[in-house]
Amino acid sequence: MSETEAALLTAARKAALNAYAPYSHFRVGAALLGEDGRIYTGCNVENASYGLTVCAERNAFFHAIAEGCRRFTALALTAERPVPPCGACRQVLAELCPPKMPILLGALDAATPVTRTTLGALFPDPFAL
Ligand SMILES: [Zn+2]
Repeated sequence: MSETEAALLTAARKAALNAYAPYSHFRVGAALLGEDGRIYTGCNVENASYGLTVCAERNAFFHAIAEGCRRFTALALTAERPVPPCGACRQVLAELCPPKMPILLGALDAATPVTRTTLGALFPDPFAL
């Protein structure tokens, strides 16, 4: 694993600790590497009206967009156990990232093995206009 990938996983684990997850108690953190070299983080934010909940990955993307970054080169996602992005997040990823972009799936416990995949493997046929 590269130094950059390790930094992404660390940032994602740190973001997960800020998750607002009083309903699921499932904390998720995301760290997105922008083409500008910056790391943009996000965590899941739940709501009593469940449909208003926003995933960690989408929060990271929206954070990056608000900061002016629109091209990305890697994503790390961490949770209590490694989980892939949900379908809605995969569609957002497809809008903003190349299919070969690496995605690292890790756990909050750094000793848990990290799974490496790509957007194209997770979501080969996105909706597009
Ligand atoms: Zn999601």
